[in-house]
Amino acid sequence: MNLIVQKFGGSSVANAERVRNVAGIVTETYKKGNNVVVVVSAQGDTTDDLIAKAHEINPNPSPREMDVLLTAGEQMSMALLAMEIERLGFPVKTLTGWQAGFLTDSTHGNARIRRINNERLDNELGKHNIVIVAGFQGMNRYDDLTTLGRGGSDTSAVAIAASLHADLCQIYTDVDGVYTADPRLVKNAHKMDAITYDEMLELATLGAGVLHNRSVEMAKKYNVNLEVLSSLTRNPGTIVKEVVRVEKMLIRGVAKDNNVARISIIGVPDTPGIAFKIFSHLAAKKVNVDIILQSIGRENKKDISFTVARENQELAVAIMEDLRQTLGAQKVICDDNISKVSIVGAGMQSNPGVASKMFEALAEENINIQMISTSEIKISVLVAQEESEKALNAIHDAFDL
Ligand code: ASP
Ligand code: MG
Repeated sequence: MNLIVQKFGGSSVANAERVRNVAGIVTETYKKGNNVVVVVSAQGDTTDDLIAKAHEINPNPSPREMDVLLTAGEQMSMALLAMEIERLGFPVKTLTGWQAGFLTDSTHGNARIRRINNERLDNELGKHNIVIVAGFQGMNRYDDLTTLGRGGSDTSAVAIAASLHADLCQIYTDVDGVYTADPRLVKNAHKMDAITYDEMLELATLGAGVLHNRSVEMAKKYNVNLEVLSSLTRNPGTIVKEVVRVEKMLIRGVAKDNNVARISIIGVPDTPGIAFKIFSHLAAKKVNVDIILQSIGRENKKDISFTVARENQELAVAIMEDLRQTLGAQKVICDDNISKVSIVGAGMQSNPGVASKMFEALAEENINIQMISTSEIKISVLVAQEESEKALNAIHDAFDL
C-alpha cells in the first residue's frame, strides 16, 4: 500500500464546486488502495482577507494574535473538504497543525518546523481514515499557534511526506506544473516534465511563485518525490527530483520578481572595513540582502549598492541614513521601480556563453542592466520594472525555451 500526500492550494478549494472537485481527486486516490494524507490551504483569498480584517481593527497587531487569526483560514477549508468527503461516504478525519504534531520555533508569521510528532497521523492512517491536515500552521513549545509564512502549506505537505516517508507528495495548484516562464507574461512558455530540486529552488526563490521555497529545500534534503500538477485539468504535472537529464537544455526557466528595492550609499570612504560595517548593521536588524555591487574607488570614495525585499526597504534606508552620518557618506538613494529577472539551469555550469547570450538578448531590446549577480546555476539582472516583461520574453526567445 502506498502513502500519498496531496496538497491543495487556495484556488483549488476556492468554492463549493472546487471543494467537490478536490474531494473527487482524494477519494479516487483512496479507492485505488492508497493511504492518503491531504494538506489544504485557506480558500481563495481568505488569508489576504483575514489580514485586511485585522488591519481594520489594529494597524499593528501582535504577531501572536495575527497567527491565531490566520490559522482559522486553513481550518475552515479542511472542515468543508471533510464534510464533502463524508457525504461521499468515505472515512475522513481532520487535524489542525498542532493535532498533527507540527512543532515549530517561535517566529510568529514565519515559523520553521522543528519536528513532527507522527503518532496521531499514524494512528488515523492505521484506521484507514483519509486524513486532512490544515496547512501553514503549527505550535511552538509554549503551546502557542504559529504560521509558516505566506505560501507555507507547501512546506507543511512536504514535511509530512518526509516525516511519514510517503511514496509521493503531490502539490495541486491551478496551473499544470512548472513552466519555463510565467505563462501570463510569456506567451511561448511551456510546461516542463521534470526539473531538479536545485533548479526549482532557484526558481521558487527568484519569484516563480509555484512552490514555497522552503518546501523545495526540504524535499531535496529528505529526497521527497514531488509532483506539481493542476487540480482542474488532471494532466500529468512536473516532477521535481535530484537529477534530470539535460538534453542540450542550457537553461530551464526564466523568472521575474518585482519584490525588490535597490539601495545605494554614495561616497563612502574607500577604506577597509566599510562593507563589513554596512552589512553587519543590516544583519543585526535581520535585513536579508540579495545582490551587492561595489563601485571602483575614486578620490578615496566609493559607492555600495544592494537590493532587499520591499518589506525591508524602509528599515534598510533608515539604517543607511544612520550610517551615512557616521561614515561621512554623501547620500542614500533608493529605487523600488525595478525588477529582478533571472535565468536558471543546471546546464549553465558546464557551458560557456550563457551570460553573454542573456545580455545580448537584453541589449537587442535596448534594456539597460543595472546590476548583475550569478551563482552556479542562475544569473540575475536588475532592470527597470516597466521593461521587465519585455526582458522576460526576449530572454525566453533567445534560449529557445
Ligand atoms: N493560506 C496561506 C497563504 O495564503 C498559506 C498557503 O496558502 O500556503 O499564504
Ligand atoms: Mg502557494
